[in-house]
Amino acid sequence: MLSSYASTLIASGRALYQGGMALSTQAAARRFASSLPAVEESFLSSRQQKYIEREDTFGAHNYAPIPVVLERGEGVFLWDVDGKRYYDFLSAYSAVNQGHCHPKIVASLTEQARKLTLTSRAFFNDVLGEYEEYITRLFGYDKVLPMNTGVEGGETAIKLARRWGYDVKGVPANCAKVLFARGNFWGRTMSAISTSTDPSSYGGFGPFMPGFEVIPYNDLAALQAKLESDPHIVAFMVEPIQGEAGVVVPDTGYLTSAHRLLKKHNALLIADEVQTGLCRTGRMLCCDWDGVRPDILVLGKALSGGTYPVAATLARDEIMLTIGRGQHGSTYGGNPLAARVAMAALQVLQDENLAENSDRLGTLLRQRLADIPSRLVKTVRGKGLLDALVIDESHGVTAYDVCMRLRDNGLLAKPTQKNIIRFAPPLVITDPQLKECCDIIEHTITSFKV
Ligand code: PLP
Repeated sequence: MLSSYASTLIASGRALYQGGMALSTQAAARRFASSLPAVEESFLSSRQQKYIEREDTFGAHNYAPIPVVLERGEGVFLWDVDGKRYYDFLSAYSAVNQGHCHPKIVASLTEQARKLTLTSRAFFNDVLGEYEEYITRLFGYDKVLPMNTGVEGGETAIKLARRWGYDVKGVPANCAKVLFARGNFWGRTMSAISTSTDPSSYGGFGPFMPGFEVIPYNDLAALQAKLESDPHIVAFMVEPIQGEAGVVVPDTGYLTSAHRLLKKHNALLIADEVQTGLCRTGRMLCCDWDGVRPDILVLGKALSGGTYPVAATLARDEIMLTIGRGQHGSTYGGNPLAARVAMAALQVLQDENLAENSDRLGTLLRQRLADIPSRLVKTVRGKGLLDALVIDESHGVTAYDVCMRLRDNGLLAKPTQKNIIRFAPPLVITDPQLKECCDIIEHTITSFKV
């Protein structure tokens, strides 16, 4: 029997994914705030329902999770509290590229945790310098500024761009402008939502940060027009593939041409590789596909393989050294635990050839998805193992319905935007595992008679 609580979730959870984007700003914000995850009638044990009800009672309602309560992970697999096993096709939004609880990363974490975890940057520690040397050499930058979450990495990049704008480019005080692309997502701070074009992200939270402007994504003419009309533009911050917008892949060469235009107008390219970086798209960085080295690079998520919040902003000295001592920081940023974990996480990506695996298996995944004989499959797109299946909802089946049935069949994925399912398994997935997952996805989609 379904509890009355669970019953109320069914309608509201579906509604969130079915209509959220079409709502007005304020209404969307209100509706998101009151929406709860949908509970599938037959699936959840009373045990799982209890966990969900407890979160609902004591936690803020700022997320709408797929109803499944997880307690263990290993590699590509997750287990719920009843012992049922699932393939993870979200990887904590690409934070778990190296697979859940990777033994080498966990070993680094536990070893360092027994020794020293945090000193703050009031003192030096014996791991940070080693990590800074490791990551700057790996990505070819002069310096790194260590932070914790991806959004802090983005904030850091914007502060750097503004300071560079004033100190190097010569923009008059408080006039610097940073450009963003429509559909961007880089977190939930006031700055991040001030650049958002998604009402459920910014609605009801104004006033917003000044000095930001939004242009269409994958539109070089729009970028050129802005740069030509405004000498106060100091940077363009952009995702090489827009993840949360629905795995939107720009034209080949977009970043190359954008970087050329920015250089011409003495402005910086900030690449937000928090989701696309670290082998996710089949290269160490997604920018590598275009042969572009951004002026400022932001990394996060998989920089710890999902064990700890670690983010990094990298730049050359001309940019990085515009921020002086005492002008930016974070209590946890650059702590020895994070530094140790990040080195282990980066080493695993290289040792296990995860970029190559992502590239090869991503091609296979997209091929199999595109071949599914169902009218529900509208479009398949992506790069490496950052892929999306766009569901044609005109047949009365939603992306959310598909995700719920995938869950029942042992594979966890989540809609992004209204009708798009992102498929992003851990990059350690093997050929036979991927083939089994393709079979699950095909079987699930064709089980809807449309
Ligand atoms: N940038 C991108 C492209 C992201 O996808 C995200 C999170 O999904 C962020 C930044 C923010 O990262 P965090 O949630 O760690 O702050």
